[in-house]
Amino acid sequence: MDSEPKPNLLDLSREQLADLLKAWGQPAFRAKQIHRHLHLNLAARFDEMTDLPKALRERLNAETTIGSLQQAVVHAGDAGMTRKALFKLRDGSPVETVLMVYPDRATVCVSSQSGCPMACVFCATGKLGFLHDLTRGEIVEQVYWAARQLREPQFENRRLTNVVFMGMGEPFNNYTNWRAAVEILHDPEGFNLGARSYTVSTVGLVPGIRKLAEDPLPINLAISLHAPDDETRTAMMPVNKRFPIADLLEAVRDYTEKTNRRVSFEYVLLQEKNDFPEQADRLGQLLRASGIRPAVMHVNLIPWNPVPGTPLGRSHRKRVLAFQEGLLKHAVPCTVRVERGIDIGAACGQLAGTA
Ligand code: SAH
Repeated sequence: MDSEPKPNLLDLSREQLADLLKAWGQPAFRAKQIHRHLHLNLAARFDEMTDLPKALRERLNAETTIGSLQQAVVHAGDAGMTRKALFKLRDGSPVETVLMVYPDRATVCVSSQSGCPMACVFCATGKLGFLHDLTRGEIVEQVYWAARQLREPQFENRRLTNVVFMGMGEPFNNYTNWRAAVEILHDPEGFNLGARSYTVSTVGLVPGIRKLAEDPLPINLAISLHAPDDETRTAMMPVNKRFPIADLLEAVRDYTEKTNRRVSFEYVLLQEKNDFPEQADRLGQLLRASGIRPAVMHVNLIPWNPVPGTPLGRSHRKRVLAFQEGLLKHAVPCTVRVERGIDIGAACGQLAGTA
């Protein structure tokens, strides 16, 4: 029979770690040392913590773990500049993470859930259904995996600059753990990644958007919009029945007014589904009428990435450019996303837990 898992130290806040060490009768500075090892040095093993007494290291090793993900496979694409890790949870459920290294930045795309309950028809993760909410530690561990990859000589000690919550799952469906992960990554005495380095993408859960608007940390927000009208959007994304476009855009408008932060809209282009010139026109009108100032909005056009077993097609290049033209006519800022990782099944919407 499976034994109870040991507590994962990456699941603990700084305070919880201090409480644990206190309960063990350790002086307060020990918790600080361990916190630094975990979140600044990114120690993967207790024997790296050489400034701790041996007995304490042994106890930590016997009773706790650093991380809980089992690493299954790593794939490299784009001449080694994109890497996808497939991890497994204890029960074998998949978790995928993608590191993308560019000349001027390094971005990790992180999962917030294993599988996803949102069932968008064009997305590979949706086909898995919902498996698990990831814990704080399971989210943080993916970021540390990426940061450790960057220590390899090929990357010349480059730092991780961006964390995007655009992997498997819906972050706002796991808001508490997602936000707790950001808190620990942001901790100046730990990983210390600045607030503007995070982008969270949502399928359009209005309560999550309203909650983020109250957050003092300026985390970037991206909205998966994908259609200019409710009929088209509902056919693509069941969530639109719960939060139709008008409610969604109202929440986004309130968010931009309250925070004065930029939002981006993601728009996956599917051949002859949502990529007609009339739809570009309609989207332009919709966004211009939304009350969101053009200065704080941006549309990311994403030519759909193939998902096996769907009857859908990727928009042809000409249609993509025509769609962009159509939006620009409404003075809506808009770019076509440059894709990474298509060759290794690591691009947007391709994460399905297969190696
Ligand atoms: N659940 C969140 C986070 C996932 S982000 C959300 O929906 O925003 C992943 C992004 O890739 C989303 O915008 C998603 O709609 C998009 N996407 C999904 N499948 C895709 C595919 N096959 N090709 C391109 N983009 C896809």
